[in-house]
This record gives sequence, C-alpha cells and structure tokens, in this order.
Amino acid sequence: MNKKAIVIAITFLLEYITEYISSWSVSMRVVYKIDILFRGFYALLIVLLGVALAVVKERSMFIPVFLGLAIVFLAVSFRKNLKRYLAVRQTFPEAWRSVLLECSAFYRYIDTKARKRFERDIQIFLSDFNVKGIRGQQLEDRLRLLVAAGIATLIHGRPDWEPPVRDGIVVYPGQRFDRDYQSGKGWMAGQASYNGPLIVTKGSLEHSFRNPHDGYNVIFHELAHYFDLEDGSADGVPAFLPSEGIFAWKEIIYNEWEKVNRGQSFLDAYAGVNEAEFFAVSTEFFFEKPWVMAQRNPDLYNALKEFYNLDPIDIYGGKII
Ligand SMILES: [Zn+2]
Repeated sequence: MNKKAIVIAITFLLEYITEYISSWSVSMRVVYKIDILFRGFYALLIVLLGVALAVVKERSMFIPVFLGLAIVFLAVSFRKNLKRYLAVRQTFPEAWRSVLLECSAFYRYIDTKARKRFERDIQIFLSDFNVKGIRGQQLEDRLRLLVAAGIATLIHGRPDWEPPVRDGIVVYPGQRFDRDYQSGKGWMAGQASYNGPLIVTKGSLEHSFRNPHDGYNVIFHELAHYFDLEDGSADGVPAFLPSEGIFAWKEIIYNEWEKVNRGQSFLDAYAGVNEAEFFAVSTEFFFEKPWVMAQRNPDLYNALKEFYNLDPIDIYGGKII
C-alpha cells in the first residue's frame, strides 16, 4: 500500500468515525453504523483469537499474524465504502447539474440541501453500479445520469434504503426490445429480473425525462418492481412494507385494481395485468401525477406517501399542472 493510499484510508476512517460519533442524524450511506459495529467486532474477534493462540501455544508471532488478518478483513469489507467515499469527495460536475436541472423535475423543485443529498446519491449509485449499453458499451454521461436521477428520486425519502438493483443497468438502443432481447423488435421498454440487470431502452429513458408529468417513467416503473421483488415474489407488496400495513395495502390495491379492470380508473390499463404491474404503474403515477392520484384515490396516495416517505404534492407545491 503506498503512502497516498494510507493517508486516504486514515482520513476516511477519521472523518467517518467523527461523523458517526458526533451525529446520529447524518445520512450514513457511505458507511452504515451497523457495518462499523459488526465488522469492528469481527476484527476484534480475529485479534483476540491471535492473542489466545499466542498464550496457549506460547508463540507471540500469532499476534502480528492475526492483527494482519484483521486489517486485511477490514480493508476487504470496507472496500465498497471506501469507493463510495472517494466518489462523494469529488466535486459534482456543473455539466451534470445542468442535465439534472433540465431533465429532472424532482431535482428542480427540491431545496438546496436536498439537492446536495440527491447529487450525493447519484455519485454513490454510479460508484456502485455499472450503467452500460449492450455488450458493455460505454454510455454518454447524460443517459447514465437519467438512470441515476430516477433511482435517486425513488429513494430520496428513505436515505437508509439501498437501491435494490443487483446487477447494474443496461440501456438498449432504440425504443423497444423483445423477449429474446433483440432491440428494435417486440414491445418491451424495460425489464426488472430478480438476478439480472435492470434493462431499459434509450428511447423510453429519454421519453421518461422529457415528459415529467405524463405518468410514464420507465426507471420509476422498473425500480418499483425491484422493491416488490426484494422479498422474492412479485406480488405488488413491496418488501419494505411494515407487516402491520400489508392487509390495508392489499385492500387498497384490490379496490383500485377492480376499477382498472372495469376501465374506470385513472391508472393506465397496464396496471390491470397483475398486482406487480399495479404497484409499478402506481409508483410512476404517484411521482408524475400526484395531484390526480390524491384526488381520485387518497388512500392509495397516502399509502405510497408513507412507503416512499415523501409527498410529491408538497415538493412540487402545486406549481405544475
Ligand atoms: Zn412492469
């Protein structure tokens, strides 16, 4: 390890330990308190094992060996956190800010402090995940930012949530792809599969951010599927929903779902395909046309407000119709 790396590692540890001790309210996305506690505990166990062996075997060399093992363990387990830390230390590029101001209505309407957190979420997301074209092709920053902005919007109210994406994001060219993943064919604009990457097409991604209040956003839609899939089943009941709220949630879904199937709902007919699509379409609508949802089905609006822990009407302040 060279000198510069050691200095960065020490600064990282000192800054975040200080932050951890001084305030419990600071967003801990770079390092989670629970990780510091558990990994610190495991490292201590490794050192103690070395000390115990040194005493039992009467060989002091066990102590530096196990100390070394504890350091390796900490370095490996905090590698992702260190990467995040280095990402958020970078100045957020002005060019990126301009793209966000132009394309993300949510970013435009949140206050300066919230924008800072939004930008930080984008940096962390892009540090953790690849956002690439098909066959690993590099994408222009603008497209990567649109994906990251969509994800930062959905988790903005829940700073303790991690985006439930597992395998990065792939942006297909054109508007649609088919079940054999051939672009330009079929009707699919995006796909969320349990162990695969989140797939969207370039056309649908651009459309989503060109029209922020038409009720359509492919990133909101697909990420909602991932929230739903977190518990292993696509049943329209997101994994993070508190268990006491599940019954009420199912009833709210069912009531509006019936209306969708009778053609009497404000939601797109696609919400009627199944419960999972209902949740995904509702999420798009909640963020894009909150005024309509709050008026037509206040129960559904309030349930989503509670789930995402934010109120889009409050954020947009009724400024956009
Ligand atoms: Zn869907």
